[in-house]
Amino acid sequence: MTGKRLLGALAAGSAVVVAFGLGGGFSASSSWAGGKHDPDAGGQTQTQSQAQAQAQAKTQPQAKASPVATVAPGSMGLIALTFDDGPSEITPQLLEVLKKKNVKATFFLQGDHVAAHPELVRRIHDEGHVIGNHSWSHRPFDGLSDAEALREITRTNEAIRKITGVTPELFRYPQGVESESGNRAIRSLGMWGGVLWHWETDAGDYSCPGADGVQRYLNDNATDQALLLLHDGNEVVDCAQNQPKYLPRAIDSLRERGFEFGVVASAGGPSWVNQYSWVRVIPADATVPSRR
Ligand SMILES: [Zn+2]
Repeated sequence: MTGKRLLGALAAGSAVVVAFGLGGGFSASSSWAGGKHDPDAGGQTQTQSQAQAQAQAKTQPQAKASPVATVAPGSMGLIALTFDDGPSEITPQLLEVLKKKNVKATFFLQGDHVAAHPELVRRIHDEGHVIGNHSWSHRPFDGLSDAEALREITRTNEAIRKITGVTPELFRYPQGVESESGNRAIRSLGMWGGVLWHWETDAGDYSCPGADGVQRYLNDNATDQALLLLHDGNEVVDCAQNQPKYLPRAIDSLRERGFEFGVVASAGGPSWVNQYSWVRVIPADATVPSRR
């Protein structure tokens, strides 16, 4: 087993995962080396084949098969809309659409934006969406010490908990840059984190492709259990004002194709659809916020 493997998220705090990390089956950030970069869309370049990783996953202690939802007849499966980098001034219009269309999403919030918009964080929570942690300052984690990585995550958790009463259990790396220091922090906090998105991304919303472009991107990348990567902060704030109009149209067209919308949750094994992150998409009504 080489160290050049990506297996996505770790189930923090479990003996299995500690053994897994120590065993060298996990090499933080190696998968990103040489990959085309863009904000958060990371995984455009996969350094190992799915077959290799699937084979490796089978060798991991207690690693289970990808958690694939039971797809009802006529359904194309469950997908999750995930919004990174917010909240910002464009968040309210997205929340309006989600409410109108009765869709729950997963928001990976950036800590300094949480501090700037506590009322929007409260609204995201009150309207039933799942909130994850996307670091405090959005710095890439590969240059962070253990103390800095831990601080980026705990400071954000604390800010979110103070507003919502709930401590996030999901963490997504800023810019997709995974690190050992970050993984140690995630494990020590009992969180689930890692890559956490569907990797076949191109022309994501951060590159301002316009409403049609984002709608096309979502349609192209939708597949059962996909975490579809979107943003409601940073680069997208400077895109054309009408770009967020993709959302109602995309929801309608994805529903017409037979997809159902769920939210992100931790999983007992890696999801090959999402770069082997230990996460899955579950029906929104299956979530019970944990208070700790
Ligand atoms: Zn981000």
